[in-house]
Amino acid sequence: MAADPLLVSTPAGLYCPAGEFYIDPWRRVDRAIITHAHSDHARPGMGRYLAAREGAEVLRVRLGNKAVIDAIDYGEPISINGVRVSLHPAGHILGSSQIRVEHRGEVWVVSGDYKVAPDWTCRAFEPVRCHTFITESTFGMPIYRWPDPQAVTREINDWWRANAAEGVASLLMAYSLGKAQRLLGSLDPSIGPIFTHDAVEPLSDCYRRAGINLPATQRPEDWAERGGFGTAMVIAPPSVVGSPWFQQFGAVATAFASGWMMVRGTRRRRNIARGFVVSDHADWPELIATIRATEAERVLVTHGSVAVLVRWLREHGWDAGPLVAERRGEDGRGEEEGGEEGDGDI
Ligand SMILES: [Zn+2]
Ligand SMILES: [Zn+2]
Repeated sequence: MAADPLLVSTPAGLYCPAGEFYIDPWRRVDRAIITHAHSDHARPGMGRYLAAREGAEVLRVRLGNKAVIDAIDYGEPISINGVRVSLHPAGHILGSSQIRVEHRGEVWVVSGDYKVAPDWTCRAFEPVRCHTFITESTFGMPIYRWPDPQAVTREINDWWRANAAEGVASLLMAYSLGKAQRLLGSLDPSIGPIFTHDAVEPLSDCYRRAGINLPATQRPEDWAERGGFGTAMVIAPPSVVGSPWFQQFGAVATAFASGWMMVRGTRRRRNIARGFVVSDHADWPELIATIRATEAERVLVTHGSVAVLVRWLREHGWDAGPLVAERRGEDGRGEEEGGEEGDGDI
């Protein structure tokens, strides 16, 4: 280990003193490298942003026209004050990146949010060798093991088909960036028309322009005069429940797609009829396999079940610790529980 760490936790966020830049900062800084466009990582007000080219457009939708966004391709190294920086696919959402930082032979990689399960709406995760790996651990507990994504896709389409047969619309709640598009891409459009909320549609258009093939969707407001939502699939963020927008569909069956649907009681507390386990984060076996694949000697853990993963890594021979200055809640549910959409815990 070099005497001075390459990246340090500061009140403004993760900082590289040698390069004078921040990664996913939460206070206003001059230079921010952004792992992905979810709002707990990409905050407004930074002097300049650097992100992967594939994610620049969704970042623009989230941050607005005034933001100064520099884009680079995955794997294209640049030098910032003598520090070599490159971005590598994280498999989380369109344009999501791991950030590789190299200085004087020392290599650190910041994972951002990541998953390794197949998702053709974004580029697959690529493990990057490093000395120190900063990993997220949103689902960093051994109980989290995702079911086969193809089986879940079948369950969702079967649920939609059964509701349509009864003339009841299917309202599938999901976060508007990433999860919504991944779900859209797995629907069987022969079952009925597909509607999306206005929070989802502009982001889906970014995906389409990036060449991701999503089925046709429409706004319910444009459909109303044609009547009847009885065979419809509706994809919307969880915040719509109980709103007038929600009520326009008449009789609906509700479901929520999230990794948290694995936890007993989550669905009941939210008063949602069905839960589908679909996560854009790594489950426990994927976290461990990924950490191994980086060949890192040292692992710093952030975002979620930090203590559990740190203890396991130490017991298995890693030099591991929490990335200090955690700003999120102890249980790390900020993003998937609704913090991502700023709509609270519903
Ligand atoms: Zn995220
Ligand atoms: Zn996150």
